[in-house]
Amino acid sequence: MKFQPDNNGYYGQFGGAFIPELLYPNVKELEDNYIQIIESEEFQTAYKDLLKHYVGRPSPLYLAKRLSEKYGATIYLKREDLNHTGAHKVNNTIGQILIAKHLGKTKIIAETGAGQHGVATATVCALMDLECVVFMGETDIKRQAPNVARMKMLGAKVVPATSGSKTLKDATNEAIRYWIQHPDTYYLIGSVVGPHPYPDMVARLQAVISEEMKVQLKEQTGKENPDTIIACVGGGSNAAGAFYHYLDDEEVELIAVEAAGLGVDSGESAATSQLGEVGVIHGSKTILMQDEYGQIVEPYSISAGLDYPGVGPLHAYLHETKRAKFMNATDKEALDAAYELTKIEGIIPALESAHALAVLPKMDLQKDQVVVVNLSGRGDKDLETYIKYLE
Ligand SMILES: *Cc1c(COP(=O)(O)O)cnc(C)c1O
Repeated sequence: MKFQPDNNGYYGQFGGAFIPELLYPNVKELEDNYIQIIESEEFQTAYKDLLKHYVGRPSPLYLAKRLSEKYGATIYLKREDLNHTGAHKVNNTIGQILIAKHLGKTKIIAETGAGQHGVATATVCALMDLECVVFMGETDIKRQAPNVARMKMLGAKVVPATSGSKTLKDATNEAIRYWIQHPDTYYLIGSVVGPHPYPDMVARLQAVISEEMKVQLKEQTGKENPDTIIACVGGGSNAAGAFYHYLDDEEVELIAVEAAGLGVDSGESAATSQLGEVGVIHGSKTILMQDEYGQIVEPYSISAGLDYPGVGPLHAYLHETKRAKFMNATDKEALDAAYELTKIEGIIPALESAHALAVLPKMDLQKDQVVVVNLSGRGDKDLETYIKYLE
């Protein structure tokens, strides 16, 4: 229970809900209802049914033989890349859209950086016939044209955020501003970030990843617990899902991998746990990259899904308590890991997921050590980058 938030949404000193007064009724409504809804039979039936027949779960747990041989360990890949829409993000959007419907909401708003969460949100809004508005930085709209096209085709309205650096944090600010003006909308947040109860709610919806892992590991190895779980961390939702049912089993080693960009000390990085300090971002007290005046420092990573300037409060707490070990991988290391997995296993991973794979050569692995790498997404969206650097 140590890693569950308290009644006010705090993991140790991290978390809480730092929100404008005008949002209080909305957040309170969610806080008062989310656990009851998630635990209800009605929700569980609908959620599990969609995960099975629409998303394609359970995602396979695949013993990567050649990768195992190469690194001298027993390495499994949890194949979130095989989900509908290509990543773990849909586990969360399916869950939250059911919660929004339960609360009687008819209009959904979301923020997106690279567009992956925007697509996952637009997808479930199409499925449920709900109006969808996605806020996206103007710079990102230019950089991520295919995802913008997908969202539009799915019926979403994409609203450009034109303030600041015109990227994810500005899109989030715009979404929050809109939410204040339209309190009847449901804000569908894409990671374990934002004010309580979002971090806990999203972690519970992604927890299906480790729930399945337990069953699959038991079938394949005879034991529910692996020795080590590795996952990449942007905001932290795929890692939260992969760690969730193992948080209190302290003998399971948890490794969170952040994007080091051009190097942790290069000034072009997104390694929040190494560079961040305690502060408040998007309604939550956590660690974030900031300058001496508390202004957010723009993060950098080759992978759009990992360049978030903070991490969710659960991860800040896992870092502070040392329950999880935080490692990082540079752009170059992630690219190499992606090419390697493609060559030896025939799986093209998302650049984000490649960061998790990239720490394998940095670890002191044992032959019988059971390692699960959470393969958060597939690499189709990153082909342009992969082709550019392919020698
Ligand atoms: C968005 C994304 C991430 C990062 O988000 P988390 O909330 O940290 O999981 C990682 N991998 C993929 C494939 C993504 O699309």
